[in-house]
Amino acid sequence: MEHGNPFMNMPEDNDLPPCEDESALREVLRSILDTLLQLPWLKTHAGGIFLVEPDRERLRLISEIGFSDAIKQSCAQVAFGHCLCGRVACSGETLHAGCVDHRHEIRYEGMGDHGHYVVPIRHEGQVLGVLVTYVEVGHARDPGEIRVLENFAGILAQIILAHRQRLDKALADLILSHSAHGVVITDRNKRIQWVNRAFERVSGYRLEEVLGKTPAILSSGRHDRLFYQEMWRRIDRDGHWQGEIWNRRKDGRVYPEFLNIVALRDERGEVLRYAGMFVDLSPIKAAEEKIHRLAYYDAVTGLPNLSLLNERLARTLAAGAAVVLAVLDLDHFRATNAALGRRTGDALLTEIGRRLKELAGEGMAARTGASEFVLMLPCRTPLGCLKDEAERLGQRLLEALQEPFEFEQHLLVPDASIGVAWNEGKELDGETLLRRAHLALAHCKAQARGHYLLHSAELQEAAEYRHFLHEAIAHAAERGELRLLYQPQLDREGQVTGAEALLRWEHPEKGLIPPDVFIPIAEERGAIIDIGRWVLEEGCRALGRWLNSAPFNVQAPRLAVNVSPHQLLSPVLIEDLRRLCQKDDRLTDCLEVEITETGIMESSDRALDRLAEIADLGLRIAIDDFGTGHSSLARLRHFPVQVLKIDRGFVSEMHLNPSDAALVKTIIDLAHTLGFEVVAEGVETAEQHAMLLDMGCNIFQGYHFSKPVSGEEFLEYARRRTDGPRKMVATP
Ligand code: C2E
Ligand code: CA
Ligand code: CA
Repeated sequence: MEHGNPFMNMPEDNDLPPCEDESALREVLRSILDTLLQLPWLKTHAGGIFLVEPDRERLRLISEIGFSDAIKQSCAQVAFGHCLCGRVACSGETLHAGCVDHRHEIRYEGMGDHGHYVVPIRHEGQVLGVLVTYVEVGHARDPGEIRVLENFAGILAQIILAHRQRLDKALADLILSHSAHGVVITDRNKRIQWVNRAFERVSGYRLEEVLGKTPAILSSGRHDRLFYQEMWRRIDRDGHWQGEIWNRRKDGRVYPEFLNIVALRDERGEVLRYAGMFVDLSPIKAAEEKIHRLAYYDAVTGLPNLSLLNERLARTLAAGAAVVLAVLDLDHFRATNAALGRRTGDALLTEIGRRLKELAGEGMAARTGASEFVLMLPCRTPLGCLKDEAERLGQRLLEALQEPFEFEQHLLVPDASIGVAWNEGKELDGETLLRRAHLALAHCKAQARGHYLLHSAELQEAAEYRHFLHEAIAHAAERGELRLLYQPQLDREGQVTGAEALLRWEHPEKGLIPPDVFIPIAEERGAIIDIGRWVLEEGCRALGRWLNSAPFNVQAPRLAVNVSPHQLLSPVLIEDLRRLCQKDDRLTDCLEVEITETGIMESSDRALDRLAEIADLGLRIAIDDFGTGHSSLARLRHFPVQVLKIDRGFVSEMHLNPSDAALVKTIIDLAHTLGFEVVAEGVETAEQHAMLLDMGCNIFQGYHFSKPVSGEEFLEYARRRTDGPRKMVATP
């Protein structure tokens, strides 16, 4: 049986013939040249053969007899049009020269006078090379001689062509059998005659195993008869077909390939053979799949990621489906990761992913952030019941999370907050729905960690209000909407010692917005820096007026200004403080910077450096809301702080709760031991005042004395107090 490539006469063993190189050709040409030079009228017995180079611009000497080294060297390459041979290569006409003349442009050492016959080697009008022979000087042109030479040139052309074709064949065989593309060649009855190595590699069949069989042995069963019928109909009609097709390997595995089939016909149009060429698509498909996985799935849990969720959500909503969507965020996940290690963290995520996937059913569970998951459930619930469905989902999620699980001796309890939203009767897009669920989640985290919260109109309103504040706060200072109020502070004798500056935002439409609401937003927005500057400027202006009108008994009335941790970190604060104190050096003794206990305790070294700089300016620093941050007084000793403000919460509970009273007493005692001055804020009743006096507190502030008031009102209050009767109290 013939095993070779039926097109290329491939050798039996499917291996390549040794590639014939040029030396064989050179030998053959030389022997013909030798025969030719025996002709009696060519008395010089010297001649050569040139081949046209592939660029068709030069001739290359391939074979010669009787050439001196000098000739070989100077005639090794001859440009088309140059010298005699170059001219013949261009013209394709035989040339005779009786002696060396101007046309003989190449000169070489030892060149004597001589003549030439230069004959083109042609095939079908194309010059393949040039045959040159030497003749004696003055040898006349003879048409008979020329005919003989041209006959020889014809033989040379055949030999050169044959060599080229052999080379071409070898090359084609080489390309086909080593091609990365699989090749199958069948006879007209679709019986396999030859396959190449790539075919063997991809299909797993050896050539011997498939010879004489039809390509149906590769059929995967994934395409029906109609598919193949249509394919062959096209090949017979158009002469070719191409497309993706699934085939089966010898080991049974199915693989995709891109197949191209061509019908090869003779001159009369009869099909001689079919040639199929294919590329195995499985590596490409595998890569595509991998890219898809990377782009759409989370590596840790194997769940879809946000991109895939978004796509699916958009499709589901576009189809008009009712959807309940829950966003779930693990509480304290970062801490778990940090304390128990990443592996444990990953195990926790994986387990939660598993549980959510179980809950998702036809819907989708996705991991959308480091500790965040989304569960999307399309619902068939009748209209008006989606809220109940959302409630149920929240409940089911909580239940699913309740079960602790073990990982490497750690008992892990997935603890999460959940926000749920749905698209009841409204045309919501996926983004809005997700935003709503996130909003509910944020509120859940703030109010009911470890539980779930449904989205509601009130949440939405609050969010919109917040959004409005976000935008408006940036312009509050420049639009003159800010105001400072002053809440008096009194000493043990009832003398006004100064005030705390408290900020107000009077929005033209929304009215008075309390600082508890807008300060955190200003911090988020970065607007707190500008606002803080305004407060400082305005406060110092007021302080300057007080100093001038001197309504105080005390020498240096103090003005406590609140400073947020963000401000503290900004270099602007120190520069401003320095500038203001330089402008009016009386301010140094009066200004007091208030920073909250948590603000100081959570601060970086940089913030502490800033505090030191403020202290270096000679300003006093007060710790606000003391007692809320659970910091130790001993630690405070290392900060450049002089004043301690006991949080309002303790003061208000003091007369009701003995343990609060005991705590306040302890704080005051310890603070005094450490050399701090103590301010009690939020003093609302005479009873609280009396208790605090008794405990030895130094300064008092609260509604019992005055609410925060305008600068004018404050001056008025201070004057009244100074003129009025004094309550003498013994200093502890
Ligand atoms: P804070 O520094 O603890 O200010 C004391 C708050 O307690 C003030 O609320 C004040 O009006 C209120 N208050 C005073 N006495 C009493 C009382 O007897 N009973 C009750 N129930 N409350 C009393 P306000 O003015 O609403 O300020 C709230 C918070 O806003 C401040 O708490 C402070 O943290 C922040 N804040 C106010 N002004 C500024 C400012 O200029 N800059 C910065 N960064 N924060 C400010
Ligand atoms: Ca304060
Ligand atoms: Ca406070």
